Parts: sequence; C-alpha cells; structure tokens
Amino acid sequence: MKSGLKIGVLAVQGAFIEHKRMLESLGCECVELRRKSDICDLDGLVLPGGESTVQGKLLRELDMFDELKERIANGLPVLATCAGLILLASHISNDDNVYFGTLPVTVKRNAYGRQLGSFRTKAVFDGIGEIEEVFIRAPYISEVWGDAKILSSVDGRIVAARQGKLLVTAFHPELTSDTRVHGCFLDMIRGDR
Ligand code: GLN
Repeated sequence: MKSGLKIGVLAVQGAFIEHKRMLESLGCECVELRRKSDICDLDGLVLPGGESTVQGKLLRELDMFDELKERIANGLPVLATCAGLILLASHISNDDNVYFGTLPVTVKRNAYGRQLGSFRTKAVFDGIGEIEEVFIRAPYISEVWGDAKILSSVDGRIVAARQGKLLVTAFHPELTSDTRVHGCFLDMIRGDR
C-alpha cells in the first residue's frame, strides 16, 4: 500500500540503498539525492551511515549542504543513522567538525574502539519494544540537552534519540529485516507520534 510520502535519501556515500528499499517496502516514494537539483519537495529526509567526514565534504562539493541545512532548520523530518547522526549533532566530542549541527546532542565518533568495532545486540527502543541493533564503527551519544529525548541505550550509552521531527540512531536499523524504526519515522512525519 502506498504511504503517499516522498522521502529524500542522501545518496552521496554509504548505506543508502538499504534505507531506500526499506522505505519502499513501507510504501514510500524515494528520491536519491546526489546533487542539488535532486532536492525537491520532500516529506522527509534520510541521512544514512557511511563516513561522516566524506559525506560532509561531498555535501559541500556538490553544493547540497546549505539547501539541506535550511530545509532541516525549517522543520523537514529527518531519520539519521550512524554517520548521519554525526552530521546532525551540534557537538562532536572527539572531532572539531560540526556539520548541520541542528540536534542538541554530543556524539563521540568511532566510540567503541577497535575490539568492538562492529557488533549486534538487542535493546529496548522506546515506543517499539525490543529490537536488534547493528553497530558498525558507530558513534554513541554522550549527552542530550534541550528537548531531545533518549529512545534507546546500550550499556548505559545512548544510541537513539529524538528531538521534534529529528530521529537519530547510532546503529543501522536498515540492516535488519525489522521495519519498525522506519515505521516510527513515518508515523512521526504524519504526526502520529
Ligand atoms: N565511523 C563513521 C563516522 O565516523 C560512522 C560509521 C557508520 O556510519 N557506520 O562517520
């Protein structure tokens, strides 16, 4: 069934195909954003995982950065995962860069060290229940402030949060077959959450 929602998926680098497939399975129309002229009238935006430094650089080189920053500041709902979370965070504790900087959280990049570079675990996600969470050289959120709300934690570290229409995860919900985090994002766009 069609959801009637049109979602832009940033497609300059990283794990965007999996988000697109998942959103299409939930009835969304997806637009791959590769250049400025791809940024059309959208109901939501996905910032995928990958490498935040590369994505940040490409966003500027492709002249997409200011347009997306303005849309986000004007209330475009965003689902940001892993590197996408780093792009949205207003502070990165172990990096001097700030990218969109819209979300009142501090993140730590590559926060789990080499040993625990990639892992999966089960954890409770507020409003959904227990889900499987896949981490790949992931950041975690060390601090939230303002009206940002914590949605999931693993071993006392914050791995998902929401502020208004910004939904962020340090893990990769697009890499499991569970569509509930994406479903939560669509509910959020519709104003049902
Ligand atoms: N380590 C990456 C970064 O710092 C994030 C990894 C990911 O998105 N899976 O940008």
